[in-house]
Amino acid sequence: MRPLAPQHVVAIDVGGTSLKGSVVDGDGHAVSLERRPTRAEDGPDAVIDAVLALASDLTSGSPDTAAVGLALPGVVDDETGTVISAANLRWRDVPIAALAAERLGLAVAVMHDVRAAAVAEGLLGAARGAHDYLLMTLGTGVGAAMVIRGQPYTGAHGFGGELGHVAVEPRGPLCGCGRAGCLEAFASAGHIALRYRAMAGAHAEGCSAREVAQRAATGEPIAGAVWREAVDALAIAVANYVTLMDPELIVIGGGMAAAGGELFGSLRHRLEAHMRFGKPPPVVPAWLGEEAGRYGAAIGAWRAAGIDEARLRTWQTRP
Ligand SMILES: [Zn+2]
Repeated sequence: MRPLAPQHVVAIDVGGTSLKGSVVDGDGHAVSLERRPTRAEDGPDAVIDAVLALASDLTSGSPDTAAVGLALPGVVDDETGTVISAANLRWRDVPIAALAAERLGLAVAVMHDVRAAAVAEGLLGAARGAHDYLLMTLGTGVGAAMVIRGQPYTGAHGFGGELGHVAVEPRGPLCGCGRAGCLEAFASAGHIALRYRAMAGAHAEGCSAREVAQRAATGEPIAGAVWREAVDALAIAVANYVTLMDPELIVIGGGMAAAGGELFGSLRHRLEAHMRFGKPPPVVPAWLGEEAGRYGAAIGAWRAAGIDEARLRTWQTRP
């Protein structure tokens, strides 16, 4: 008698503060969601233990699990399943796919988290049907993933697509990476809030990037200046990408994308101003929000388990 076909995979999105894991069926439904602390403050081994323990608990709770998918931050070699470096996990050269496969006895697919999100947006979300597109996530930092001819592009060493660390103004503010003037130092939520607080003083105490966007919209001049600077930096970086790669579509996600019309309207306008060759492609909001990385990990796991691609395309991500 043939064994029953495996009916679930386990997908885990590994973030700097929390791990989000789900058991996902062949129709893309998450039948469970578990969130645990990453434990980065306890060092790299504690994070490895936390990831493996969550994967192990989820797979033992679902004995028909066919494969495991992990979405991870940092510089990730998707091919070998190794995290080359991830500052917020304190990892360096961690062969997480091999460690997980050994512990679980299952196939393990590993993807950089923003590339995982880009794959999910392409199959199920805002980039459905597109073959050449860029996904940017504007949050605490600026993440980006390039999809070229339907495949996420990693480059030769796993860090291809780090648009957040492209310089947009060499004399600009200092970025977390140690260099001045990166896109991230202008357009990440963290830096927008920092710049506004530094310029506006007491009046800006505890103000988040979204509040800066709201204050800018009501005509507050300092917030307006910081916001315009952020949008212009984004427009320069996106225009550079479009000039080099000629994508069909730009998808923007992350917490800042929730600024909605404020961001998208002014970004399209500034992008137009910075383009010299061709027309700017559509710039659209991501659909999958915080779940994009976990969807990408589930897709990676189901592909490792040999699912029919046509079935993946039937997944419904919107009600
Ligand atoms: Zn940088």
